[in-house]
Amino acid sequence: MATVKACNILITGANRGLGLETVKQLLEDSCPKRHIFATCRNPDGPKSEALRELAKKHPSVITIIRLDADDPCSIKESAKKVGSLLGNNGLNLLVNNAGILARGTIQTSSVESMKNTFSTNVIGPLLIIQEYLPYLKKAAKASGTPGMSCSKAAVINISTVGGSISTMPSLFKKFPVLPYCVSKAGFNMLTVLASEELKADEILCMALHPGWVKTELGGEKAPLEPKESVEGMLRVIGSLTEQQHGGFMDYTGKTIPW
Ligand code: NDP
Repeated sequence: MATVKACNILITGANRGLGLETVKQLLEDSCPKRHIFATCRNPDGPKSEALRELAKKHPSVITIIRLDADDPCSIKESAKKVGSLLGNNGLNLLVNNAGILARGTIQTSSVESMKNTFSTNVIGPLLIIQEYLPYLKKAAKASGTPGMSCSKAAVINISTVGGSISTMPSLFKKFPVLPYCVSKAGFNMLTVLASEELKADEILCMALHPGWVKTELGGEKAPLEPKESVEGMLRVIGSLTEQQHGGFMDYTGKTIPW
């Protein structure tokens, strides 16, 4: 059961995997004024059918918005649309969840896989934060409460322990996914620098590792089900204060070293 109290929430990559599970669990709690902007790159495609069904059942809570993290124009367009729907309200919670994995080692990683992972996992989230910042600032100002929380204004970056420079070397043999790890290490730095810049506006910013989860990206061997991972992440997100601003935690609330 989610304990997140944020009203207006935007999630990227919301059509399947952890993003879709997050939308589902956010529907379960009774936050009366909640609105979820569930974004995905192909709202009309076959991979978005489950999200379309969910939105049909909850039309007053879910709005599906096209957002391709790999396409700056679509990010801009999405922000314009969300801004017009928000009206005078701000955006309380932005979850940068969309991500891609590419395999490779020093000897085998291609230019293409490095460029693709950086585009989706680093540049996309950067542009998304830039475009949605005015709405996050609006929410922070409107809250009238001191400190930081996800019900006020927050950016949660769904990263991975694979982006932890101190942890990944011992896992590399088991997970030879260099382009993914290098891009997520970049994403982690983006989180730290965003937290530095957004501090003055009291917008909470941190990175969260969902655990190793059975999704298309995580694969069949993963020990965790999306339900358990997302329950944990929402519990962590709901409990965040300025103490965790600029930090890196996993879905159980344990701190992960950079
Ligand atoms: P999935 O592969 O199941 O889902 C990935 C999601 O990202 C899909 O909705 C996909 O949309 C979307 N996506 C990919 N590229 C883009 C893009 N250019 N624009 C918009 N959306 C895009 O992965 P998970 O749900 O497992 O992963 C979610 C996040 O969790 C990722 O950031 C991942 O790195 C992180 N993570 C996952 C772990 C795991 O074990 N599963 C472990 C650690 C971190 P589409 O259907 O269009 O492809």
